[in-house]
Amino acid sequence: MTLSEKDSLYNWHPYTQHKTSTPHPVIVKGKDALLWDENNKQYIDAIASWWVNPFGHSNAFIADAIYKQLNTLEHVLFGGFTHNKAIELSEKVLQLLPNNQKKIFYSDNGSTAVEVAIKAALQYFYNKKESRTKIIAFENAFHGDTFGAMAASGISFFTEAFKGSLLEVVRIPVPTAGNEETTITALEKLVNTNNFAAFIFEPLVLGAAGMVMYDAEILNKLIAISKQKQVFTIADEVMTGFGKTGKTFAIDYLTQKPDMVCLSKALTGGTIPMAITSFTQEVFDGFYSDDVNKALFHGHTFTANPTGCAAALASISLLETDEMQKNINRINHKHSLFANHIKQHKRVANTRVLGVIFALDIKVQNAESYYGSLRNKLYSFFIEHGIILRPVGNTIYILPPYIITDNQLDIVYKTIEKALNEVE
Ligand SMILES: *Cc1c(COP(=O)(O)O)cnc(C)c1O
Repeated sequence: MTLSEKDSLYNWHPYTQHKTSTPHPVIVKGKDALLWDENNKQYIDAIASWWVNPFGHSNAFIADAIYKQLNTLEHVLFGGFTHNKAIELSEKVLQLLPNNQKKIFYSDNGSTAVEVAIKAALQYFYNKKESRTKIIAFENAFHGDTFGAMAASGISFFTEAFKGSLLEVVRIPVPTAGNEETTITALEKLVNTNNFAAFIFEPLVLGAAGMVMYDAEILNKLIAISKQKQVFTIADEVMTGFGKTGKTFAIDYLTQKPDMVCLSKALTGGTIPMAITSFTQEVFDGFYSDDVNKALFHGHTFTANPTGCAAALASISLLETDEMQKNINRINHKHSLFANHIKQHKRVANTRVLGVIFALDIKVQNAESYYGSLRNKLYSFFIEHGIILRPVGNTIYILPPYIITDNQLDIVYKTIEKALNEVE
């Protein structure tokens, strides 16, 4: 049996209809922006393996930090104990975050980071005996696949089967250019009911929705409106965090400061699953009591895993090098040049660039569905050409590792242009 045949015998892949899907390439090796399959075919990883991997595959510096940690203290329970790597990482992350963030809570992935934020918001009001049981979120948001995170997500076919079992979430439109007033009106109406514990959002860029972008100025207004009515604001930076938007965090573009921040994906440079939810002192104090029942009863077996913390510390030190900041600016500049060129293509409806994120929408007669047929043809075209890109509906986006070379980026751009010319 080939590896591919064994894979279809044993493995159930995410977001995959196995009856209609084609065999998955078997990846055996990765270095920097490149991956190789078992037949030695080379791929450029133009989406940093679902946005987790800014410093390249098999990064020796992070691998070293992990190896050292594994040989010192691979894991210790975080209930009743602590360790120096978690302390060091929390101190470091709090230095990077807006200065209203005071406490770090560890978990395992983006969805759990969101669960922790939502549970903290709901229990905060429960502890105060205030009835605020609902959440506000954007239409088309994506916050993860566990129940709380899924409830906050607005991509309907992801959540349709579970509708009856979900936390109550009310959606407001994404304030893209021209829709700002509609969003403000909708949010004001909701917060005035005093029924809402929190407003959760992906700051400036909705990733899974297809890199949909909106301005910092309107997000400032939405946060201010929420604050007036004591609705907590939760910035889900799971995708945008650690340099993707050109600043360390997307919320660094804001003057307003959210109450909670969710981090994961690039936190450990794409090595070890790990997540952080950060909080203001105010949120933390809502649980601080002589009454044990007021504690936040949430945890995971691997909470604050020392090896994950060591990987995160190494990743952050790479992010802070001049070289990496130059890489981010270099990619941004090249994306802008490509956007100016490709927006003249007759099939391109519009282009967007922020930090290392580039996106274009293809003109279509009828809105293309998330995994529609054009999308699937484009995906296969890119794979054939040795490029990993996962279009969303009729949107093609690039979110490369920061160490991608100019030459590799040019190949990605040329292949996108070729796809626009050839894939119907
Ligand atoms: C990917 C993502 C999540 C979920 O993270 P997982 O690690 O896949 O659970 C949550 N929020 C945003 C904005 C994401 O992009």
